[in-house]
Amino acid sequence: MGTPAADVLKPDFAASQRHFIFTEEHDRLRESIRAFVTKELAPHAAEWEESTFPDSVFRRMGELGLLGLSFPEEYSGQGGDYYCSIVLAEEMVHADCGGLAMGVAVQTDMVTPPIHVLGTEEQKQRYLVPSIAGQKIGCLGITEPDAGSDVSGIRTRAVRDGDEWVIDGSKTFITNGHRADYIVLVTKTDPDAGHDGFSLFIVDMDLPGVVREQRLQKLGMHASDTALLAFEGVRVPADALLGEEGKGFFHIMWELQGERMIGAAGCVAAAQKAFDKTLQYALERKAFGRSIGHFQVIRHKFADMATKIEAARQLVYTTAWRFANGHYPVREISMAKVYAARMACEVLDECLQIHGGAGYMKEYGIERAWRDMRLNRIGAGTDEIMLDVIGRSYGL
Ligand SMILES: Cc1cc2nc3c(=O)[nH]c(=O)nc-3n(C[C@H](O)[C@H](O)[C@H](O)COP(=O)(O)OP(=O)(O)OC[C@H]3O[C@@H](n4cnc5c(N)ncnc54)[C@H](O)[C@@H]3O)c2cc1C
Repeated sequence: MGTPAADVLKPDFAASQRHFIFTEEHDRLRESIRAFVTKELAPHAAEWEESTFPDSVFRRMGELGLLGLSFPEEYSGQGGDYYCSIVLAEEMVHADCGGLAMGVAVQTDMVTPPIHVLGTEEQKQRYLVPSIAGQKIGCLGITEPDAGSDVSGIRTRAVRDGDEWVIDGSKTFITNGHRADYIVLVTKTDPDAGHDGFSLFIVDMDLPGVVREQRLQKLGMHASDTALLAFEGVRVPADALLGEEGKGFFHIMWELQGERMIGAAGCVAAAQKAFDKTLQYALERKAFGRSIGHFQVIRHKFADMATKIEAARQLVYTTAWRFANGHYPVREISMAKVYAARMACEVLDECLQIHGGAGYMKEYGIERAWRDMRLNRIGAGTDEIMLDVIGRSYGL
């Protein structure tokens, strides 16, 4: 007779097991990114909060191959799978600098994927290759002063004039907008054609008529630059068109799926980081003769947070697995995006609370993470828009 399992099986809470989407190679990549981020980026977080991070970060990350992890080697990428991008998004949170992580994510997961998938060979050589090398910086222009959630309400127009297009309009809240060499711009080319009247262009930011207006001040993500841009009679050649004329709306909706996926992964990682840091604090900080973590109410806060973080992580990884395997799981990506963003905001708020007054002070870093995190319920599609996409997917 064998020993009953109950006698020998004991929970090993310290054990960790790699998720099935990752391999040993991803673990090694994770370690090397973590070493770079903690050594070369995190020490500057406070300074960059004041000044925004320097462009040299792109060049350094380009040298290290970190801006092209999932792109093919023929375009100077690393030839890795989609999960390498998830690893990068997760590890960037260890820079303790949300604005930096966002500026980099715009380059790696918002601007370059459409150029890779939709671009001509000439566009890939001219924009994708130098962007992967960190020599060119891109930004993405969807939002306008009068149209954010309602992308179909944008007014920026591109009008054909012989071999050129003439672009007029404005874009706002554009991350990297002040530093960018080029913008992937959403325009209307046929206002009467509904969703078939949009087109994307790659526009060099040094062209006459491109005006970088205000540097916008914001609640968090201070290390990033956020621009209001104007386009005044900007002339671009016909080959500046990205993808198919008239299909820009569908192209940008596809782009947004990758953006939401990577944002959700970053939310989970940032929530985990705040949890770990706060757990340490709760074990050390004493009140009424014991560690605050040993009050049942605080213990339950940790239990709640851990459960939500784990649920979000599983949703993100399973959805990433589908995305990487050629599915187009818009409903699940929207679920992952809204759930991870809300969860992370709740977790950051509880972490700040558990830190007490210290949580409100800059030196502990929790207040910065709390401020930075709030954007995730707004950017790349608000909570309300995500819920609407999910609801509509059931025919409602
Ligand atoms: C720091 C920062 C960086 C950004 N970076 C970029 C960038 O690089 N490029 C870019 O193009 N954009 C960028 N954005 C813009 C961002 O994607 C938009 O702010 C977001 O999509 C919401 O649009 P909006 O601000 O116009 O809000 P609105 O669309 O005006 O929404 C206002 C409120 O109404 C709600 N609402 C709107 N429509 C509905 C509806 N149908 N049902 C229910 N509720 C609704 C919204 O959920 C929200 O609560 C950035 C924004 C910020 C704050």
